[in-house]
Amino acid sequence: MELNIESLKLVCPCSESPAEKVVYSTDSSCMQGELLAVTWPENLEQLQKLIRFATREKVSLIPRGGGTSLVGGCVPQSSIVVDMSRLNKIKRLILEEKTVIAEAGVYLDNLNNSLSKYNLEFPIKPGSHAGCTIGGMIATNAAGLLSKKFGKVDGWVSEITFMDGTGKLFTFEGNEAKKLAGSEGTCGFIVEAKLKLLEISENFSSDLFEFENLQGMSEKLNALKNDDAAIAIEYINPIASKLVGMTAKEHLLVKYSNDKGKLDIDEASKVWKMRENLYSVIFNAGFTKIEDPFFEEGVERFLDWINKQNVPAYGHIGYGIIHPHFRREEDIERMNNAVKELHGQLAGEHGIGLLKKKYAPLGITTRIKEIKAAYDPSNIMNRGKVI
Ligand SMILES: Cc1cc2nc3c(=O)[nH]c(=O)nc-3n(C[C@H](O)[C@H](O)[C@H](O)COP(=O)(O)OP(=O)(O)OC[C@H]3O[C@@H](n4cnc5c(N)ncnc54)[C@H](O)[C@@H]3O)c2cc1C
Repeated sequence: MELNIESLKLVCPCSESPAEKVVYSTDSSCMQGELLAVTWPENLEQLQKLIRFATREKVSLIPRGGGTSLVGGCVPQSSIVVDMSRLNKIKRLILEEKTVIAEAGVYLDNLNNSLSKYNLEFPIKPGSHAGCTIGGMIATNAAGLLSKKFGKVDGWVSEITFMDGTGKLFTFEGNEAKKLAGSEGTCGFIVEAKLKLLEISENFSSDLFEFENLQGMSEKLNALKNDDAAIAIEYINPIASKLVGMTAKEHLLVKYSNDKGKLDIDEASKVWKMRENLYSVIFNAGFTKIEDPFFEEGVERFLDWINKQNVPAYGHIGYGIIHPHFRREEDIERMNNAVKELHGQLAGEHGIGLLKKKYAPLGITTRIKEIKAAYDPSNIMNRGKVI
């Protein structure tokens, strides 16, 4: 498809240079797409003009935050990528409400760094916290390292300002705002949000537990789940443990909101750094395909199945999300069958995007179709994703 770049330049800052094509044709999923142009709207007027341009030209717009999607959520398919990074103001901190109003392109770490002087934070913390944005986190309804205690993004958003696929601007509150969490850019742009904040505890501490077998791990896990001070419980299986230089055993890494953890500050910082590096270490070992099934209960039976496959796995076990890594697509099909048999759910936190379309659960596709029909009748937004 040919794009009239000169007309696009009148609407919004943009580029179709070969260098931008390399960067914006993919995201953290490593899937490759075809980019017509990338745009950087600097205000809502430009965003609205861009939507009108796309409607006229019948071309799809792909919202992009930090581009850390692991499912090809930002990969263009002969479309225009809309990089939201210039909408990056932290507009208002309302101390008496413990809320903040931030634009979609604000990076999570930047938000939390600027809140730290008020002893406040946004407590949903994906492993990608340095590179993901508020807009992307809402659009994927992200979970993360602290989800055992704080759940997912939808519990922490009280208001969303949203421009739909026709260019209309809305402010949604409460449950209406929650509905947009997990919409994966398929119906419009999240342009800003009012986020609930949490006071930072003074007294964090951590522990690392090692187990000979899953049974021992499971007993400790159940005790920790009932411990209100355990705000993060992360699991690492023997193969993943070995790949990051630990003994090839079952491990639980725990963060407490009090001082009961036994690791000193240096040890704690070392093990959490190791946890954050797990994805890249395992990816570089050739297990490039990451999955994210979710188990409300019975996760141990799935871990037993995973260990028998001889693949690395880790995850936010306190919340029920596990990240097995595979080398081959056919292994993922087998895993999906195992997840179904063991009463788990697919797509616990990364979304569906392009990569997981053929496995998308019916509940998710039905919901996205409903939102899309209401807000993007011309199918301009993130065409070809999820449904
Ligand atoms: C190393 C690593 C660790 C990760 N750990 C976690 C984890 O612990 N928990 C977790 O949930 N995820 C995790 N992820 C996945 C990813 O980081 C999250 O999905 C994150 O929320 C995406 O944010 P982003 O700003 O990068 O969004 P992007 O990747 O830019 O976009 C993701 C989706 O949101 C849409 N979107 C982006 N911005 C907007 C907007 N303003 N309006 C409408 N739609 C928009 C995009 O179109 C796309 O469909 C991880 C990824 C990596 C690479």
